[in-house]
Amino acid sequence: MSLPPRVLVPAAIDATPPALGGRIHEFVGETMGTTWRVHLVAAPTLRRVPVRLAIQSVLDAVVAQMSTWDPGSDLARFNRAAAGSWHALPEHFHAVLACAREVAEQSGGAFDPTAGALVDAWGFGPAPRQGVPDAATLSHARRTAGWRHLDIDPERRVLRQPGGLALDLSAIAKGFGVDLVARRLQALGIVHHLVEVGGELRGAGVKPGGRPWWVQLEQPDGDDSGERTLLALHGLSVATSGDYRRWFEHDGARYSHTIDPRDGRPIRHGLAAVTVIHADCMRADAWSTALTVLGPDAGAALADRLGLAARLLVRDGEGFVERRSAAFDALLE
Ligand code: ADP
Ligand code: MG
Repeated sequence: MSLPPRVLVPAAIDATPPALGGRIHEFVGETMGTTWRVHLVAAPTLRRVPVRLAIQSVLDAVVAQMSTWDPGSDLARFNRAAAGSWHALPEHFHAVLACAREVAEQSGGAFDPTAGALVDAWGFGPAPRQGVPDAATLSHARRTAGWRHLDIDPERRVLRQPGGLALDLSAIAKGFGVDLVARRLQALGIVHHLVEVGGELRGAGVKPGGRPWWVQLEQPDGDDSGERTLLALHGLSVATSGDYRRWFEHDGARYSHTIDPRDGRPIRHGLAAVTVIHADCMRADAWSTALTVLGPDAGAALADRLGLAARLLVRDGEGFVERRSAAFDALLE
């Protein structure tokens, strides 16, 4: 049985359609341990190599600054640095960290860019560890983590390492990478595009013929009963966090790679997927993780309070129950 899809459209699709004769070009590559994909509208004679290089170099810059997995990144060097040292932040790193701190504050610490030691303790970081950490490891990680320890001097764009503070921007960097690629394309005069990194998306303009970039909201595995939801990605981004993405099982319990920094443990409530729609992919990405940590009730309540367009899929026996914020419903046609 298949239901007709539900359709979400932003208020107005008012792009100047692509010039006649433009066609869709597709580019793919790898970054941040996942894949990227770009669709754009340009003349059939487009020189593809410079475009591909421009996209890849933008994403390489995000990795060089913010990867937890590349030991040479600015972030990895900060994490290893001596207590009391100050570190100059490159422009992008600074912008992402500033946004991450804002989301941390607004979410009451559910999202926390300093959760690196906790992520490592549970085996979801680059440290070769797997399974449930012992009490000493966990309490040490909890003592060092905490966004309130962030000491940023915005004037000089420097950050202080208080000792053992481990940044982890994995829940926001993919979205930022999407924004940066979109900005680069725009600067190259490519105004009709759809950018995706690891499932996070941003679209601008329209396809040849004037139709928007339609995308289907991500569904968790096993949810084939639910309605499909299509979104016209016109000047918008969408990000989805899901417990089906990365997890391990131990003694019959399922441990998610999303940690609740407030108790230092992987989340356990029944949220299967949280989708956030926002102008910026960076914010969509961060908030999808933040609402996932907050859980169905507090997450839906905060989304409404902040006017975020969010959809939360809650596990319910064999199926799912959907919670939508008012701003999400306002997009429904
Ligand atoms: P998802 O794939 O579920 O959207 P993301 O890829 O956006 O999740 O982010 C998950 C990653 O973020 C984890 O692997 C970890 O590195 C980091 N992380 C885990 N918990 C938190 C948290 N509470 N706040 C910020 N980052 C987190
Ligand atoms: Mg995220």
